[in-house]
Amino acid sequence: MNRSTGKKSYEGRSITVTFEAGRCRHAAECVRGLPEVFDTGRRPWITPDAADAERLVDVVRRCPSGALQYERVDGGEPPAQPPRRHDHE
Ligand code: SF4
Repeated sequence: MNRSTGKKSYEGRSITVTFEAGRCRHAAECVRGLPEVFDTGRRPWITPDAADAERLVDVVRRCPSGALQYERVDGGEPPAQPPRRHDHE
Protein backbone atom coordinates (compact mmCIF):
# COMPACT_ATOMS: atom_id res chain seq x y z
CA MET A 1 0.00 0.00 0.00
CA ASN A 2 1.27 3.43 -0.78
CA ARG A 3 1.16 5.36 2.46
CA SER A 4 2.99 8.36 1.16
CA THR A 5 2.15 11.50 3.06
CA GLY A 6 4.14 13.66 0.67
CA LYS A 7 3.26 17.25 1.26
CA LYS A 8 2.62 19.39 -1.79
CA SER A 9 2.69 23.14 -1.93
CA TYR A 10 0.45 25.34 -3.98
CA GLU A 11 1.79 28.83 -4.08
CA GLY A 12 -0.42 31.83 -4.40
CA ARG A 13 0.35 35.52 -4.28
CA SER A 14 -0.45 35.96 -0.63
CA ILE A 15 -0.88 32.42 0.64
CA THR A 16 0.80 29.09 0.08
CA VAL A 17 -1.50 26.17 0.68
CA THR A 18 0.02 22.81 1.51
CA PHE A 19 -1.76 19.52 1.13
CA GLU A 20 -0.82 16.14 2.54
CA ALA A 21 -2.69 13.52 0.58
CA GLY A 22 -1.98 10.84 3.17
CA ARG A 23 -3.96 12.74 5.80
CA CYS A 24 -6.92 13.71 3.67
CA ARG A 25 -10.16 12.10 4.81
CA HIS A 26 -12.10 13.29 1.81
CA ALA A 27 -14.56 15.19 3.91
CA ALA A 28 -14.74 17.64 1.01
CA GLU A 29 -15.03 20.64 3.28
CA CYS A 30 -12.55 22.37 1.05
CA VAL A 31 -14.33 21.60 -2.21
CA ARG A 32 -17.68 22.59 -0.77
CA GLY A 33 -16.31 25.68 0.91
CA LEU A 34 -14.45 27.16 -2.04
CA PRO A 35 -15.04 25.30 -5.28
CA GLU A 36 -13.22 28.01 -7.22
CA VAL A 37 -9.99 27.19 -5.36
CA PHE A 38 -10.37 23.47 -4.69
CA ASP A 39 -11.34 21.53 -7.77
CA THR A 40 -10.37 17.88 -7.80
CA GLY A 41 -11.04 17.66 -11.52
CA ARG A 42 -8.32 20.16 -12.33
CA ARG A 43 -4.52 20.07 -12.14
CA PRO A 44 -3.23 21.64 -10.04
CA TRP A 45 -6.35 21.08 -8.00
CA ILE A 46 -5.66 23.97 -5.65
CA THR A 47 -5.36 27.52 -7.02
CA PRO A 48 -4.91 29.75 -3.97
CA ASP A 49 -5.32 32.97 -5.97
CA ALA A 50 -8.82 32.11 -7.12
CA ALA A 51 -10.34 33.48 -3.91
CA ASP A 52 -9.85 36.07 -1.29
CA ALA A 53 -7.04 35.24 1.15
CA GLU A 54 -9.37 35.58 4.14
CA ARG A 55 -11.92 33.18 2.73
CA LEU A 56 -9.21 30.72 1.79
CA VAL A 57 -7.78 30.76 5.31
CA ASP A 58 -11.23 30.14 6.65
CA VAL A 59 -11.78 27.04 4.55
CA VAL A 60 -8.28 25.66 5.14
CA ARG A 61 -8.92 25.91 8.87
CA ARG A 62 -12.09 23.91 8.46
CA CYS A 63 -10.23 20.89 7.06
CA PRO A 64 -10.98 18.24 9.68
CA SER A 65 -7.92 16.09 9.05
CA GLY A 66 -5.18 18.69 9.02
CA ALA A 67 -4.28 17.68 5.46
CA LEU A 68 -4.61 21.27 4.39
CA GLN A 69 -2.46 23.93 5.90
CA TYR A 70 -1.45 27.38 4.87
CA GLU A 71 1.29 29.87 5.20
CA ARG A 72 0.86 33.53 4.55
CA VAL A 73 3.52 34.94 2.32
CA ASP A 74 2.25 38.50 2.21
CA GLY A 75 3.17 39.47 5.74
CA GLY A 76 -0.47 39.19 6.78
CA GLU A 77 -1.63 37.71 10.03
CA PRO A 78 0.23 34.61 11.15
CA PRO A 79 -1.72 31.37 11.33
CA ALA A 80 -4.43 32.09 13.81
CA GLN A 81 -4.25 31.08 17.37
CA PRO A 82 -7.58 30.56 19.00
CA PRO A 83 -8.56 33.81 20.64
CA ARG A 84 -7.67 33.80 24.28
CA ARG A 85 -10.46 34.49 26.64
CA HIS A 86 -10.00 35.91 30.04
CA ASP A 87 -13.21 35.43 31.84
CA HIS A 88 -12.25 36.28 35.37
CA GLU A 89 -15.21 38.36 36.33
S1 SF4 B 1 -11.23 19.36 3.75
FE1 SF4 B 1 -9.31 18.34 4.23
S2 SF4 B 1 -9.89 16.24 4.59
FE2 SF4 B 1 -11.56 17.18 3.51
S3 SF4 B 1 -11.19 16.77 1.35
FE3 SF4 B 1 -10.31 18.75 1.81
S4 SF4 B 1 -8.21 18.29 2.31
FE4 SF4 B 1 -9.27 16.38 2.46
